[in-house]
Amino acid sequence: MTQAYITERVHARAPGKINVFFQVGAPGADGYHEVASAYQAVSLYEDVWATPSDEFTIEVTGTVQCSDVPLDENNLAVRAARLLASEIGYDAGVHLHVHKAVPVAGGMGGGSADAAAALVACDALWGAGLGTAELQRLGARLGADVPFALMGGTAVGTGRGDQLSPALARGRFEWVLVVSDEGMSTPVVYAELDEYRSGTGIYVPRAPARPAVYPMVLQALRQGDAQALASASDNDLTPAVLRLRPTLDDLINLGLQEGALAALVSGSGPTLAFLIENEQAALELQVALSAAGHNALHVHGPVPGARVLPD
Ligand code: ATP
Repeated sequence: MTQAYITERVHARAPGKINVFFQVGAPGADGYHEVASAYQAVSLYEDVWATPSDEFTIEVTGTVQCSDVPLDENNLAVRAARLLASEIGYDAGVHLHVHKAVPVAGGMGGGSADAAAALVACDALWGAGLGTAELQRLGARLGADVPFALMGGTAVGTGRGDQLSPALARGRFEWVLVVSDEGMSTPVVYAELDEYRSGTGIYVPRAPARPAVYPMVLQALRQGDAQALASASDNDLTPAVLRLRPTLDDLINLGLQEGALAALVSGSGPTLAFLIENEQAALELQVALSAAGHNALHVHGPVPGARVLPD
């Protein structure tokens, strides 16, 4: 199908995520790990502008270090646009301008957010009118975190993290993120976890047989209770991330000393997410961490998933 261009340019936005809870099973025969995650979308966004073009092209700018982001067919946003075009039989291309605020390889699903924003932008640009379920199905083919970037809010993910059900979350949670300049490779972090768990000793944790999100995590989210969420939150990847990046240990201690309720590694790191009691305390922690030379950002969650904005 060749369609007349219905509009000049479409702007879409998708959020980064943090994992407020993350349990990781043993690797399966295919090497993938079954996980159980409670995700929250936070107010750190990727913006994508889609413009009609005969080819598939991309430019990437951002407030974060973007030099490692691929500018070819490997870019998740380009893959998303191509997948949608082939699905609906659209035979021209698109130019994508991605503006990144989510740290690259930071465990916050930035590439997945780009893919989600590209899907909704191209869907609107090409007048495809795919529904939520169809976009979710395409998203799952692009990466495990793409369905959540489309959905946003707060959700539980099982399987590879892509079998999603929305979770109720009351009110708003305040977070201070500490972003590292140097990202971490997700496969390397998982391999480190497997090695750590294969060690001997009574304190070495074992992989859960059936990863699951604890009921007390869901209860804390439902009640909007930051203190309870701080006690219930956990991430199985934390020891692996700390073994690979030991300097994060001091940073965690500093954040806790300066009033954070909890310190979480987001996904496969190295971004740290400090959970804070209220907005004022979050601002104070942001100032303290910035004064110590860290790149600290104050965000909140939950926020909506990928959506088209007025340009
Ligand atoms: P993961 O989803 O593996 O947990 P992450 O959130 O830690 O990833 P991303 O910023 O999504 O990190 O990037 C992971 C890798 O994906 C990058 O190192 C990069 O090579 C590749 N990549 C592909 N497309 C993109 C994109 N649009 N933005 C950022 N990285 C991308």
